[in-house]
Amino acid sequence: MSNSNYDIAIIGGGASGLAAAISAKRQNNSLSVAIFEANQRVGKKLLTTGNGRCNLGNAGNLSGRYHGDTAFAERVLNKFTTSNTIDFFNSIGIECIELEEEKLYPMCLQANGVVDQLRFAADEIGVETLIEHRVQKIEHKGNSFIIYVNGTTYTAKKVIIATGGVAAPKSGSKGDGYTFLTNFGHSKTTTRPAIVQVITKTDLTKALAGIKVEGEISLTTKKGSRTEKGEILFTEYGLSGPPVLQISRMVAECGQGDISIDLLPDIDFTEVFSILKRRKDILKNRTTDQLLLGFLNKRVGEVVIKSAGISLSTPIAELKEKDLKDITAKIKNFKMTATGTKGFDNAQVTAGGISTKDFNADTLESKLIKGLYATGELLDVDGDCGGFNLQWAWATGYVAGISAAE
Ligand SMILES: Cc1cc2nc3c(=O)[nH]c(=O)nc-3n(C[C@H](O)[C@H](O)[C@H](O)COP(=O)(O)OP(=O)(O)OC[C@H]3O[C@@H](n4cnc5c(N)ncnc54)[C@H](O)[C@@H]3O)c2cc1C
Repeated sequence: MSNSNYDIAIIGGGASGLAAAISAKRQNNSLSVAIFEANQRVGKKLLTTGNGRCNLGNAGNLSGRYHGDTAFAERVLNKFTTSNTIDFFNSIGIECIELEEEKLYPMCLQANGVVDQLRFAADEIGVETLIEHRVQKIEHKGNSFIIYVNGTTYTAKKVIIATGGVAAPKSGSKGDGYTFLTNFGHSKTTTRPAIVQVITKTDLTKALAGIKVEGEISLTTKKGSRTEKGEILFTEYGLSGPPVLQISRMVAECGQGDISIDLLPDIDFTEVFSILKRRKDILKNRTTDQLLLGFLNKRVGEVVIKSAGISLSTPIAELKEKDLKDITAKIKNFKMTATGTKGFDNAQVTAGGISTKDFNADTLESKLIKGLYATGELLDVDGDCGGFNLQWAWATGYVAGISAAE
């Protein structure tokens, strides 16, 4: 039979809520701990992480990989490090493996394995999971909290809000936690989508839709610049791919920015220019549409030549040194304008959120309401693409879970 009075109620059975529940129960098994989850199952978003493989952490340096209140983030992350994440997952039956760019994955490379083991570990230790329980309202009366779900009320001595942000709302996180916490007097910073595809003026990208290049992308905005290297995907609307997702936060923040793509980042301008001179000599009996064939992706090469103002039908023999320099410049600095992002529906994470200033970084307890805690994406901290957001979810879940159980 379901108990309706709990020692600890966790609102949200996502990454941080599950970590909080397991940590709280492990800290003090005699406490009654319940997860209230809106969906039909816990961990729905987790299933989609890392392209279904769940990039659950990052073995590299975490410093410099977080945004928002970075000092607060560092304090929490020092209490639950990457090696704690690996130990935690080992303790619930998940072996971890480090792959490209120091990203950590479960060795099975299956996000559903991670969700299942989290779920089984919570069940085994006695966490009560209430699925299809979307919490509508939380009140604080005396020393306890009253939780309202579809006409039924529950009470809890302590409440951990783990409802996520507003990214990918189809997975259940629709921003309810912002309402709960602002009703308790907490403040919220502006929220924006991050780790999301970038919309550009499409005159160049439309012609290249579907093509991937190994390039280096630099974004310049009024707030600064950022450069990232990796596989860039041209799309109908603009750009995608890991380095694009990485710079997207700044596009969302500034609304627009100037993009420059280096299509051959490992070869400098002088070398590219001398390669073109050599190719001109070898291909002197052909037309310019063949100048970059076999050197760059065919369609990319054609767009580069056209954007340098040179006709594809020009005989290669007629190309002047200045023409080759102009083509080299386009290869090294392929420009376009970012005009926005694909929004929260497509974003992996929410930048901004509940201000950390009224939370204690050592416990994640509210400084305004005793017994109230918050975790994960809901707070004004977000990480880069590469396992940093899940590391934040586990770390905040752990800290809040053990603190609430102490
Ligand atoms: C497609 C995609 C891929 C990603 N890949 C990665 C990756 O590989 N590595 C990485 O580090 N990060 C990744 N992320 C980001 C990461 O998944 C999130 O940052 C992380 O899950 C946030 O954890 P959370 O506990 O704060 O919130 P969530 O995991 O969003 O969980 C919140 C939970 O609360 C529930 N809820 C909300 N409101 C209520 C309510 N009123 N009552 C009851 N329940 C409620 C929701 O249904 C949900 O289950 C990805 C995100 C997406 C969308």
